[in-house]
Amino acid sequence: MLSVTKIEKCPCCSSENIVKNGFTKQGNQRVLCHDCLKSRVLYRKFSLDFEAVRRSFLERMSLCGISRVFLISYYQVYKELNLCFLLLPNFKSQVIENKQCTDIIEFDELCGFCQKKKNKQWIWAAISRNTKQIVAYVIGDRSELTFKRLIRKIPIEYLKCQSYSDYWRSYAILKTKENHQQVGKESGQTNHIERYWATLRARITRYVRKSLSFSRKLRYHHLLTKMFIIDYNQNCLSTLF
Ligand SMILES: [Zn+2]
Repeated sequence: MLSVTKIEKCPCCSSENIVKNGFTKQGNQRVLCHDCLKSRVLYRKFSLDFEAVRRSFLERMSLCGISRVFLISYYQVYKELNLCFLLLPNFKSQVIENKQCTDIIEFDELCGFCQKKKNKQWIWAAISRNTKQIVAYVIGDRSELTFKRLIRKIPIEYLKCQSYSDYWRSYAILKTKENHQQVGKESGQTNHIERYWATLRARITRYVRKSLSFSRKLRYHHLLTKMFIIDYNQNCLSTLF
């Protein structure tokens, strides 16, 4: 009979000077390295499906929920999340060009918050009515300055299109432009962006009103919003071509 002895090594410093160090909450064996003094998991009970974890970030699941479903620690959830961001494609590369300037743009803003209700984070977006893509978005306060930031991000060919917004005072800076019109919700001219906000609220738990799920860190608030918008734009791209 042939028996093979495998020597385990520390995942951090490759030292063989390791001992068993109890189990994690998820039931994985932990080891402690006497050289670098770090405690790590050598093998997981279940192998992790990265794509499944990535999809669940976009399906209204809280980060704690993801940790429970996939039996991974919070540390691992954040690690996977950061990896998702690194793999995100460039935002502009996903927006379809509009050479004929025949599109219609709708502007609107939606309230979210980070850590406490008083720390409001408004997401401003411009949606294309033809492609249903978000052509530009920013996160900030509800002032004119944030709206100006949004304008600067919109591709020039989309700025030449007819646009609609509600009567919020920040949109008044476009009053002098012939191709912009401020309208009420009852006119139906901002229906597409309103529908988009409904989808965002249904898919990203931190935008759900009156829920216990909220962003604790601004970084993840920004990055998960970006992840959702890019994913949505990619889906629009694949349905068009
Ligand atoms: Zn070590």
